Amino acid sequence: MIDERTEAARLDALRMLDLLDTPPSESFDRITRMAAQLFRLPIAAVSLTDFDRQWFKSRVGVSHTGLPREKAPCALVAESRDCLVVPDLLTDARYHDSPLAGSGARFYAGAPLLTREGFGLGAMCVVGPEPRAATPEEMAALADLAAMVMAQIELQHAFGRVDPLSGMPNRIQFLEDLEDMARDRPPGEPRIAVLIDLASPERLSAAVRVMGSVYLDDMIRLAGRILRAAMPAGCKAYHVAATQFAFVAPPDLAEPGCTVAMRRMLDRLAEVASPHLMAGLAAGLAPFRLGETAPRDVLRTAHGAAQDARGSEGRIGIHSSAQDAAHRRRFGLLQDFAQALERPDELRLVFQPRIDLASGACRGGEALLRWRHPALGEVSPGEFMPLVEQTSMARPATAWVLEAAMRQLAAWREAGLDLQLSVNVSAANLAERDLPGRVLDGLRRHRLSPDCLELEVTESTVMEDAGQALAVLEALAGAGIRLAIDDFGTGHSSLSYLQRLPAQVVKIDQSFMRGLMSDDRKQALVSTMILLSHDLGYEVVAEGVEDAEVRDFLVAASCNEAQGYLFARPMAAGDFLAWRQAHADGEADRHRQARQPRLAVPGERRPGRAVQAGSPVG
Ligand code: C2E
Ligand code: MG
Ligand code: MG
Repeated sequence: MIDERTEAARLDALRMLDLLDTPPSESFDRITRMAAQLFRLPIAAVSLTDFDRQWFKSRVGVSHTGLPREKAPCALVAESRDCLVVPDLLTDARYHDSPLAGSGARFYAGAPLLTREGFGLGAMCVVGPEPRAATPEEMAALADLAAMVMAQIELQHAFGRVDPLSGMPNRIQFLEDLEDMARDRPPGEPRIAVLIDLASPERLSAAVRVMGSVYLDDMIRLAGRILRAAMPAGCKAYHVAATQFAFVAPPDLAEPGCTVAMRRMLDRLAEVASPHLMAGLAAGLAPFRLGETAPRDVLRTAHGAAQDARGSEGRIGIHSSAQDAAHRRRFGLLQDFAQALERPDELRLVFQPRIDLASGACRGGEALLRWRHPALGEVSPGEFMPLVEQTSMARPATAWVLEAAMRQLAAWREAGLDLQLSVNVSAANLAERDLPGRVLDGLRRHRLSPDCLELEVTESTVMEDAGQALAVLEALAGAGIRLAIDDFGTGHSSLSYLQRLPAQVVKIDQSFMRGLMSDDRKQALVSTMILLSHDLGYEVVAEGVEDAEVRDFLVAASCNEAQGYLFARPMAAGDFLAWRQAHADGEADRHRQARQPRLAVPGERRPGRAVQAGSPVG
């Protein structure tokens, strides 16, 4: 009779090791082959005694993966924790009618797999087709091999493969098991990896601050237990990072089923765990093909999907390769931009003219950054600047642009041209206390007066850290540098707030010019913005002017300046000068013609200003 409590403890010890139903592994197979060779027998196995079956972790010469526990000699070895030799199964009263004997086996010898605590997990066994005896030396060697199996089990479990906090297999084990699984299962089998993240890094550190690390450890242990209990049959959960757990869904669970199962799991986690921590709870599903997707990519993509899902209503994200490609591109761009800053030929400035609407004159323009990536070709600043601005590269990037713009201004001045340039600066730049000093230093070095430079900041830029940003802006304005509020109308700030900024110029965002002539409300909005800005003492520049009707509307609304494809696209410095000359000549002609008397035709509209084609570079 088996003592029930001992058996429960034994089974628990077996489960803790997470060996049942795992794929075969070479480290065990090697020992099994040695056992077969030792006895010169065709069959050997490492078998584990589950509550109702003997399951083969490793096997030589057998095709099936297990036997019913009842009447399996290995079960007796595990229970008795002693070696067993059955010289002839057919004449043995206990096993003559066992499935093993039924399959033609006659000889059996097994040595117990004993844990340090003395639990018998199963047996290292050999089986032969003929009755025979086993010498004491053979049995001693078999016991040694069983001990080697146990050493391997303990090694795998303890050494760098188990998270000490949760007691669960860790990331290294996950990656290795994925590789084993790929060997064991049909090649290319579609599977889904699931990653559950309890909290974002920010939330995690906030939670540690508020509740302490002991509380957090308890929380993670609890989450681990919940996950283990909720695992689908045959699934093993891994603790792959501080707050992250992962598993591979069983082969029969496709995406919809997996999503439903995950929703249940997340609900259960959210129910029991701390709301402080679990508000950032998210899960990522990464469909992949066994043996085709590298295990690291499986984990990475599942993690990415979880990150994307965080904060979304459902909290479950499914990896898509399009999204992944976009992430990779962003990551690659950021890495490469650092190099671009160092290289002479990747970055350059282009210049887009700004036109005075009253006189038609061009007194300067906006300097815009261009990047020719060695592999990707031209990359738009609309793509890379928002990324760069979030990193420490915002500082060297703006420094590069400022220096290049000042160099250009100095070259123009040398050529006798008195031009102005505006340069875009990022939110991060306004946190640089030394920005005003560096800008002034640059102006001095290039012997430029401060009024030839204008800095463009967006309204949201200033909102981010109003105090510090204001101090920097005031220092710049105090030194005589003009400031413009870029992309005006797209943020959430009010004109009354902006009035506190020491800016002279408001640049109305190009989105207001799009479809302006067919939208009465937009027209009213633009007129009002111009009126209010004037009342508050700003000059107004309209961005993105693409057609003559919009320009005429802006002239009628007393907008000061305009910029847009109607006049010219951003151009290289040489083209900018050529364009400016042609534009000036065109304007002079127009004025001459306007002075010549002619007959007025009733109802005729004033002809639109001639559009000059600049060579498009931007
Ligand atoms: P922005 O400062 O508002 O610049 C105006 C953008 O509108 C430029 O795009 C310009 O090429 C484009 N544009 C000009 N006229 C028209 C038009 O008529 N129609 C249309 N559809 N677009 C027009 P670009 O050069 O691609 O720059 C995009 C944004 O990238 C800029 O918006 C600015 O926010 C940022 N950026 C560009 N260069 C720099 C830089 O040196 N530093 C920083 N911090 N940001 C930059
Ligand atoms: Mg701008
Ligand atoms: Mg703009």
